[in-house]
Amino acid sequence: MQLTITGYSTALFSTWYFIEEWGILFDAGEGLISALLQKSRKIDHVFISHADRDHITGLLQFNQLNARPGYPIMYYPKDAGSFPALEAFSKKFDPQVARTVWTPVTEGDEIPIAKDLLVKPLRNGHVPVEEHIIKSLGYMVVQTRKKLRPEFAHLSGEQLRQLAEQQGRDSFSMEVRENLFGYSGDTPVEDGAKWDNTRILIHEATFLDNGEPVKTRDYGNKHSCLEEVMEMVSSIHIGQLILGHFSSRYSPEEIDRAIKGLCEKYAINIPVRRVLPGETVHDLLSQPPINR
Ligand SMILES: [Zn+2]
Repeated sequence: MQLTITGYSTALFSTWYFIEEWGILFDAGEGLISALLQKSRKIDHVFISHADRDHITGLLQFNQLNARPGYPIMYYPKDAGSFPALEAFSKKFDPQVARTVWTPVTEGDEIPIAKDLLVKPLRNGHVPVEEHIIKSLGYMVVQTRKKLRPEFAHLSGEQLRQLAEQQGRDSFSMEVRENLFGYSGDTPVEDGAKWDNTRILIHEATFLDNGEPVKTRDYGNKHSCLEEVMEMVSSIHIGQLILGHFSSRYSPEEIDRAIKGLCEKYAINIPVRRVLPGETVHDLLSQPPINR
């Protein structure tokens, strides 16, 4: 399936990604409405990774323009107190958004967004808190399909139809899942296994330099260095990679040079694209990969 992904992502300033075919927004930094215009009306589900202001300040205007009964639905990490505060303020400030839905989510949840699609929140260590506290999440979009169990493969269409009538379709079918799309949110590089076998991964890469002093990082929250991301990606199976959330201290040339160098170093041959600081990229997957 070809996805139309539009996004903006610059560390400290703003981050958001819109997937048009699914009506999903990941994060809601400022500028999303002025970039998407009428297309923002297609957004039904908003998955927020964490409460840093550069990921949520677009929500007020987004809701104000698009609120309708039961939509949009905002999903946020369950222990991040900023969201109930923002919900209360938003509904007081703009009474017409009173029926937007704000839903706390946590790792282990499965959120259906279409007949054959669900979203799984994945905890990450961006905000240093105890293991059971959920303040920062990545997300995985999973496709679920019903497939005939191999032991029923010999049956004819008519036999299967009868069986479905007698015992229901679940008696001979099984669910097959595929990771279509992963969004890292803000995160240090962690166990790559959670992104393994994903068709498209958007991962943050705030720093180009592994030796970046920790004290310069915002609020003590943890981010990824490009090389750690590329090393992780080289050790798992990803169909396409999109890098974003670069610090604005780097020039486009520095970023592209670093990506190309690391693709060579780690023998990464999948298409790699990037969202440069300060740039809104429309239809990301139609852009030429940086490593081809
Ligand atoms: Zn951020």
